[in-house]
Amino acid sequence: MSPKRIHNFNAGPAALPQSVLEEIQSEFLDFKGSGMSITEVSHRSKWFEEVINDAVARVKRLLKLDDRYKVAFLQGGASMQFAMIPMNFLNDGRTADYVNTGTWSTKAIKEAKLLGKSIKVVASSEDRNFAYIPKNISFSKDATYVHITSNNTIKGTQWAQFPDTGNVPLVADMSSDIFSRPFDASRFGLIYAGAQKNMGPAGVCLVVVRDDLLKLEPGNLPTMLKYTTHTEQNSMYNTPPCFSIYTAQLVLKWLEETVGGLEKMATINQKKAALLYNLFDQSDFYRGTADKDSRSLMNVTFRLPSEELEKKFIAEASANDMGGLKGHRSVGGCRASIYNATSEKSVATLVDFMNAFAKKNG
Ligand SMILES: *Cc1c(COP(=O)(O)O)cnc(C)c1O
Repeated sequence: MSPKRIHNFNAGPAALPQSVLEEIQSEFLDFKGSGMSITEVSHRSKWFEEVINDAVARVKRLLKLDDRYKVAFLQGGASMQFAMIPMNFLNDGRTADYVNTGTWSTKAIKEAKLLGKSIKVVASSEDRNFAYIPKNISFSKDATYVHITSNNTIKGTQWAQFPDTGNVPLVADMSSDIFSRPFDASRFGLIYAGAQKNMGPAGVCLVVVRDDLLKLEPGNLPTMLKYTTHTEQNSMYNTPPCFSIYTAQLVLKWLEETVGGLEKMATINQKKAALLYNLFDQSDFYRGTADKDSRSLMNVTFRLPSEELEKKFIAEASANDMGGLKGHRSVGGCRASIYNATSEKSVATLVDFMNAFAKKNG
């Protein structure tokens, strides 16, 4: 009997490709003839070295990174990066611009300020509860970096195009849309992404950093909080989160070999999101919360005519094996997270259910 698998719309931790889960299961007791589980081998063993080296190589290929970029797998989540970035790059009077597009940007700004760093919030969409991505922003010419959140997991917005910051590198929290579409990585000084949305299990955060930014690192930081500690030792200064990195490596392999790369992934993601947004555009029952030109292809946020109906909707969806549709506790409403691993079939099943629910309750 095959195991029960629901249509998983969780925001994070989130769905993983079923083929990856099966691959993990099949080699869990004996990893590649080692007679041990990947959770039992040394991180210094040839088995794990091959895993991490392959993961790094795949990140470089998928993002088309040149030799200036280093790839590291860190702990502490994306939340740790909120502090590490200003600690490493904003010293000796250097400043940075931040764009505030939601909960996670707000937290990144808070950490930089907490550290007493000089940062400027050059744009914010807080005036309309973060329902849009700001346009026509003037950036500071002398900033060391411009921090953005590429996809706003809670508010359901996403940068369709990245802003033009001239010679100032972008630094981006891509936790919830990394590897969902191709983009020009050469405009970024640093990209970070907690794995548990679009890349793997919780416990690891991908960091891609360009060498010119690494030169700004001060000498007096705790060893674990310096990027070079990790970039110079292939993420193995201390014991890395081996199982999370291994799962991420299999997801990256799936992206390259099964999906066929980021262009193909983006086409699938656009199709999935369009199924839901077309429904909103034709319906008086469902209302998307994000402005049309700022809609996220990863986290689709919406409201029903009343909170009672939203409760009923989430409960009936759950009874029909569709999970994770409750909006973030800070905003309420509903949210369908449709990351890379959520299939077109799952989204189509949800849309069918939503049409039937609107007919019955509208
Ligand atoms: C989930 C999320 C975070 C927080 O990630 P942690 O790994 O839990 O620290 C930060 N930024 C964005 C955009 C997220 O979606």
